[in-house]
Amino acid sequence: MTHTAEGTTPFERLTSHMEGEDLVCPDCGYEDNGGEWKAKTNGSQILYRHLCPSCGAVRKRTFDLSDKASTVAETEED
Ligand SMILES: [Zn+2]
Repeated sequence: MTHTAEGTTPFERLTSHMEGEDLVCPDCGYEDNGGEWKAKTNGSQILYRHLCPSCGAVRKRTFDLSDKASTVAETEED
């Protein structure tokens, strides 16, 4: 039996407030106070992107408008 710790999910973070929260880079720990998640939409999805000004790490999130209650994808790039 393996139990996975339940806690703050990416979805919960996404739906709470994209701005002000979660602007701390998971790679280098830089807090991007002046930054923000850039959001754009293609009609069926909202695409969020954040670039860390310190180390250049890019985080992307896709928010599916057609089923926003259950579909959130989070990807990270080096
Ligand atoms: Zn960083």
